Amino acid sequence: MFRMENDPDTGISARAQRKAQDKAKILQRENQRNIFKLVAKILKKQESERTQEEVAYLLQHRDAVQELSLRQVRRNVLKRKQEEVFDDADELRCKVRQLAEVVRQAQHLVVYTGAGISTSASIPDYRGPNGVWTLLQKGQTISSSDLSEAEPTLTHMCIRMLHKEKLVKHIVSQNCDGLHIRSGLPRHALSELHGNMFIEVCTSCSPVREYVRLFDVTEHTARHRHGTGRGCTHCGAELSDTIVHFGEKGTLEQPLNWRGAMEAAERADVILCLGSSLKVLKKYSCLWGMNKPANRRPKLYIVNLQWTPKDDLATLKIHGKCDDVMSLLMEDLNIQIPAYNKTEDPILISTTPLRPEEEDSHSRKVIAQSAGLEDPQEQAGGGAVHGGWFGKGYSKGRTKRKRMA
Ligand SMILES: [Zn+2]
Repeated sequence: MFRMENDPDTGISARAQRKAQDKAKILQRENQRNIFKLVAKILKKQESERTQEEVAYLLQHRDAVQELSLRQVRRNVLKRKQEEVFDDADELRCKVRQLAEVVRQAQHLVVYTGAGISTSASIPDYRGPNGVWTLLQKGQTISSSDLSEAEPTLTHMCIRMLHKEKLVKHIVSQNCDGLHIRSGLPRHALSELHGNMFIEVCTSCSPVREYVRLFDVTEHTARHRHGTGRGCTHCGAELSDTIVHFGEKGTLEQPLNWRGAMEAAERADVILCLGSSLKVLKKYSCLWGMNKPANRRPKLYIVNLQWTPKDDLATLKIHGKCDDVMSLLMEDLNIQIPAYNKTEDPILISTTPLRPEEEDSHSRKVIAQSAGLEDPQEQAGGGAVHGGWFGKGYSKGRTKRKRMA
């Protein structure tokens, strides 16, 4: 609704006044920007090379100088946080020895894992130099070999073994790649907080009915759109993926297993974080015993190349690759690391075959059950991965709507 409100003194309309004010503001901002630009240019010069006029200009615009140097400090801090740091061999040995002692002594050791434990399976992490998040921030597309070709890494196999030896009680993972299950880790010992790319569910059935597939079920799904296009063989309802995207709240009991994660965190005396930036995990305060007094919170051990927001609270921070740290740890604990065995892979064993009419419902590569049983449908291109949990859920605001095939 517009109303002409004339100023009785000047006769100028209020609207024209506002317009003039806005224009003045824009001019002022423009002016401020120019000052900042010039100050920045002068600051780049060596002090000895600055002219008298330039020095005077800096003195005249002290606020701008101060603001710009603050920004530089912030930029440096940010840069340092993104850098990958490596402990040297001796330091790493020494730190892992400490860790081994803690693993032996712990009453209730819980392991939190992030994308960093899967990078050696050629799944990129999110915030590393070539991570999904980093690439998207730079406006680059994500390209990767087919994710279904990934197999459990040495770290996955070590974790499974530590659980088998009863040294680790529970694993809380942010990864959707299903590699913990595929390593042979029992489901009850695992919380996949952000879902599992091989599992689709019927939420119309009660209890929720689970379908394990040999391929990435998330091809046509996205944030707030979880229908996979396939149907429940019992009730006919459309199946959904189990992925929890940024901004979503996961409500599925499995594979998220929040109850297991919370019970584990409640009882934990030691938490070992492997290959996670902890930027998302830190938001779940219940996972860190924050409800307890500081001296009764679990001790934190962090293995990550980059800075994490929990570093200051950690008893020990190890800057090393997860596979390197874990193989040293197993050596210290004198535990053999089993090799991944396809014939024991639960995803391969417990899979539900597609109905004939659903054979064409996806174009993703199938995990081969044994050599020679390769999927006949090759993924077109094999370069950039489109759709699904991978990348999409993590590219906040950059997602393109894709029609259901
Ligand atoms: Zn159903």
